[in-house]
Amino acid sequence: MIVIVGAGESGIGAALLAKKLGQSVYVTDAGLIKEKYKEELSNNKIDFEESGHDFDRLKNAKLAIVSPGIPDTAKPLVILKEAGVEMVSEIEYGYRNTDATIIAITGSNGKTTTTGLIYHILRDAGYDVAVGGNYGIAMCRVLAERQPDYFVLELSSFQLEKVDTFKADIAIILNITPDHLDRYEYNMDLYVAAKMNIVNNQTKENIIIYNGDDRYIQSNLDSRILPSTRRIPLSTKDYITGLVSTDTDLVFQSQLKGVHNLFNASCAIAACREIGLTETQIASGLATFTNMPHRMESIAVIKGVQYINDSKATNVDAVFYALDAMTTPVIWIAGGADKGNDYAQIDQLVKEKVKALICLTAYPEPLTTAFGDVLDEIIITEDVDEAIRVAAHYAQEGDTVLLSPACASFDLFNNYMDRGEQFSDAVNKLSRYE
Ligand code: ADP
Repeated sequence: MIVIVGAGESGIGAALLAKKLGQSVYVTDAGLIKEKYKEELSNNKIDFEESGHDFDRLKNAKLAIVSPGIPDTAKPLVILKEAGVEMVSEIEYGYRNTDATIIAITGSNGKTTTTGLIYHILRDAGYDVAVGGNYGIAMCRVLAERQPDYFVLELSSFQLEKVDTFKADIAIILNITPDHLDRYEYNMDLYVAAKMNIVNNQTKENIIIYNGDDRYIQSNLDSRILPSTRRIPLSTKDYITGLVSTDTDLVFQSQLKGVHNLFNASCAIAACREIGLTETQIASGLATFTNMPHRMESIAVIKGVQYINDSKATNVDAVFYALDAMTTPVIWIAGGADKGNDYAQIDQLVKEKVKALICLTAYPEPLTTAFGDVLDEIIITEDVDEAIRVAAHYAQEGDTVLLSPACASFDLFNNYMDRGEQFSDAVNKLSRYE
């Protein structure tokens, strides 16, 4: 019997795949399981328990598939370990049950953009390709439906824990900068080690595409891969060499903006070239790709002021690139649940570009401490509408109002999407009154 611990998207996906493969399976969760997932489990005749675990039943499992959010210290995991039950992640389970060529992407920032881009280019070129992982749909859920030739997989650091035989045909590491340190005992080495698991088991047939300027990747790669594994280092400063050559008949016009996105694109291009796509196929995909919302998303121009939703910028590095891409004075809306941020990295950019900082958060102290001496105007609010009204007040024609929070959203919002949507709604309300 297989036990699935944790009934989120990955747990439900794993349960569906196990069931499809004819395994006896049950799902257990310490909390309440979402209605939509319970319905799905019932419809598929998959047994489940919620608000607690039957530990005797756990001990008898032959395999446990554990959700990425659950720490090793959680009681069910301790029990499983004591009982000697093999514990794997949903990604490992999916990997064991597919023959697809795997293109796996990790990094602190840019995963979703790069994953979406590779998927889009391959699909546009007519390849049989699926997308999943941290990209919103569990890998196993996709595999329960069909077996694609290519699987483009976005992997978070949590999803790269409890992988064992997992091997990426093409692995991409975009960057490693401090993030989620609260989940890694504020120990950067632990976070880096999890990210580097993406190269596990790679051999000379495989490829690692990575950020050659990133010191964490550089200092760890040698000890983590075989000398014969093909390396493609790309530079964030020299990204243009990765772009499609201009001698193709299609002029490359991507909607992606900013140096960081050109770097993401060059990683995607390198992967697509390795798969065997032509330059024309790649250029065609690049030209028609639109990114997911909440990532440097232009919402409106009101009275000559541009409003940009970058709610997905939940760490300082993402804000660095957002501010770096700004060519106008900025009214910067930031703040939220701080994961141990060090704002020194953006100090200079803030000095140069930010006219006013609006702290949209219940915890403004880290921001006010970091920028109190740098900025004349710092406003604190917990109300999105007020934040936008104040931003509109400070903004002059030609300026940009940028929501790029550097923090998680849980102090005031359900998640970053909720934050981005409320921001967009408030901007749209403003446009109706102007
Ligand atoms: P992830 O899935 O890793 O969170 P996203 O593609 O969703 O990455 O982008 C998250 C945030 O990071 C956005 O604010 C985006 O503008 C910024 N970003 C995207 N790519 C990069 C990069 N290569 N380096 C730094 N920041 C980036």
